[in-house]
Amino acid sequence: KPKNRLTPQTYIDGVLKGDRVILSRAITVIESNLETDKILAKEIIQAILPASGNSIRIGITGVPGVGKSTFIEAFGKHLINEGKKVAILSIDPSSQRSKGSILGDKTRMEELSHLENAYIRPSASGDTLGGVANKTAESMLLCEAAGYDVILIETVGVGQSETAVHGMTDFFLLLMLAGAGDELQGIKKGIMEMADMVVINKADGNNMASSEIARLQYQNALHIFPQSDSGWLPVVTKASSINHTGIDVVWEEVKKYKSLVVKNGYFESNRNNQKITWMYNNINDALKQLFYGSDVVKTKLSKLENAIVTSEISPVKAAEDIMSVFKDHFK
Ligand code: GDP
Repeated sequence: KPKNRLTPQTYIDGVLKGDRVILSRAITVIESNLETDKILAKEIIQAILPASGNSIRIGITGVPGVGKSTFIEAFGKHLINEGKKVAILSIDPSSQRSKGSILGDKTRMEELSHLENAYIRPSASGDTLGGVANKTAESMLLCEAAGYDVILIETVGVGQSETAVHGMTDFFLLLMLAGAGDELQGIKKGIMEMADMVVINKADGNNMASSEIARLQYQNALHIFPQSDSGWLPVVTKASSINHTGIDVVWEEVKKYKSLVVKNGYFESNRNNQKITWMYNNINDALKQLFYGSDVVKTKLSKLENAIVTSEISPVKAAEDIMSVFKDHFK
């Protein structure tokens, strides 16, 4: 056995003891696309599953430059001062560069990364959104099993990954800037709608007045959205990581949120729904893979495309044909 390979039990025990080196190695196994690692990953996850779930999971998004990493550094330090153990993960499937995740450069959170009770892990890269989402969610379970009780999952705020992060977290935080026009800075309405809290960031120096205006505008904008099943009304506040203002308020709101949703049952029902949706997402991805990956389907599809273009067959009939070919193939 090569000396860089640990036994499954070594990974499991190490994670459960909170050993950070083993935790990192276990996440590397989770991220690996090697078949042997996939088997090992399943064994590790299965074993640590009962020890997972004991955290508050916070999604954090905002466009590049809004100040996410600076905020997370300040917020993370605040949480650690409150006695928490904080793990920071990210989802960034857009990044195909080898080391190019949004958290790839640990120096972005220089001070935090040196703290014993902080664990920072860059996003798995070079994968589909579904693949990255699986890996991030499983890494989150490992971090929880290792004793981290606040999980921050960062994403870049410009694409589909927000939905994935929203689907694996309890609380969704959107960072925004003042004075960047009411175009919502490229933040889509759907992302605004997911937010449990909006923070007008960089509320300092010359931005003070405009931040208050922005806060009121976003507070009004959020009221237009239908109320969430959580029973929580989204709040809009201001923060400055430089002046160290408003950071504590975010944590206070998260705690208020949690106590509300634990009491009204949403915390548990939402987590249950998330787990079930997670399974279906994987089934859907696998079905697509099975279908479009099959040679029979590929061959038939290219013929059907031609037949549709020349009006020999209707698109609806073509879809029916290809499904019956597929069904026959798997009989
Ligand atoms: P990210 O791309 O969203 O992670 O943004 P960064 O955290 O890297 O911050 C982008 C820029 O904004 C950097 O130059 C930071 O120094 C600056 N910045 C971050 N937070 C604040 C803040 O609270 N106030 C001010 N004035 N600048 C900030």
